[in-house]
Amino acid sequence: MKALVYHGPDQRSWDTVKDPTIVDPTDIVVRIDTSTICGSDLHILKGHVPETTPGTVLGHEAVGTVQEVGASVSTVVAGDRVLLSCVTSCGRCRFCKEHRYGQCLGGGGWIFGHLIDGLQAEYARVPFADNSVYKIPEELSDEQVLFLADILPTAFEVGVLNGMVSPGDVVAIVGAGPVGLAAILTAKLYTPGRIVAIDLADTRLDSALRFGADTTINNGREDAIAQIMEMTDGLGADVAFEAVGLPATFELATELIRPGGRVANIGVHGQSATLHLEKLWIRDVTITTGLVDTYTIPQLLSLVSNGRLDPMPFVTHRYALGDTMDAYDTFADAANTGALKVVLDASTSTSTSISASGERVVIGAGVA
Ligand code: NAD
Ligand code: ZN
Repeated sequence: MKALVYHGPDQRSWDTVKDPTIVDPTDIVVRIDTSTICGSDLHILKGHVPETTPGTVLGHEAVGTVQEVGASVSTVVAGDRVLLSCVTSCGRCRFCKEHRYGQCLGGGGWIFGHLIDGLQAEYARVPFADNSVYKIPEELSDEQVLFLADILPTAFEVGVLNGMVSPGDVVAIVGAGPVGLAAILTAKLYTPGRIVAIDLADTRLDSALRFGADTTINNGREDAIAQIMEMTDGLGADVAFEAVGLPATFELATELIRPGGRVANIGVHGQSATLHLEKLWIRDVTITTGLVDTYTIPQLLSLVSNGRLDPMPFVTHRYALGDTMDAYDTFADAANTGALKVVLDASTSTSTSISASGERVVIGAGVA
């Protein structure tokens, strides 16, 4: 089969690799129908994730069709269409029993495209299938559910639920990438009073308005703290999400918050950030951190099914799965291409970008 293989820092290629097979009785093998690329894949390619060894197939978000089922799998059969979560759950360890699948001790957690071969491929082996895949309601398209594999549960669980967004809250979101935008969509489920998106890129702030932010602040040009204080009678936001992963944006999130407010850190940090306890201790502030568990996937599927949540605006480009190499170039150059999420589609040989007006523009012919 063909797959996108990591060969060490800055090196990737679309290679012919061995077809996956059932290894453990809890495995299934899935044909990948639709996949996508995540910022974490770019981190791996920069060499920031040393646990990922050269030769690993990348990708941890996909929709596929079950091909083969291990002897002890009982909840899916060949032919079922399933969502593959970015986090795998053994279902038996202490943390899986607490629904903290991200912390799985039994061989799960974030493993796809990280510790084992991932999902930017024609086929994939999926461990612990009974606990880790979700059957997709017939009426939903692959694209409608694809982002429930990672960015939507991440923003919902680690941002909105950890930050305890409540009706009427002023919610400040630092970082309006795909995860920050997903935080806007899922915060809206709780009817906040006002959503403020903060980013350095105007293109991202434009997207934030389209996704439902009420106000945007470009903190490269404007004083975000002064503006938030002005909006909140000098108190600060009720909730702030950090959705970037830098020391400066974490510190900004802690400065934006009112006494008694909540800072929910979503960003993945590679450097130490300063916790200004000398200012924070007296303000009754709560700070949460977290790796996504994806325990909210069933709830999010129901919201999409019922028309309460629409993930389609994330799709800015569609590539044939065989054009994954080009899709990476587009996704990595988001500032110029306007990419939010690129869909890798195994059923097509034509690649298209979606213009702001929704029109499809052909950007290449597939080689698959
Ligand atoms: P992204 O890189 O696409 O978006 C980050 C955004 O932050 C960009 O729009 C960028 O312009 C903006 N930004 C950069 N520096 C800034 C600054 N100083 N001030 C304001 N904005 C700034 O990333 P993403 O895919 O949206 O992911 C966001 C974060 O969430 C990343 O750190 C990612 O690794 C993390 N993440 C965490 C989990 C989890 O389980 N906790 C899961 C998935 C992703
Ligand atoms: Zn477990």
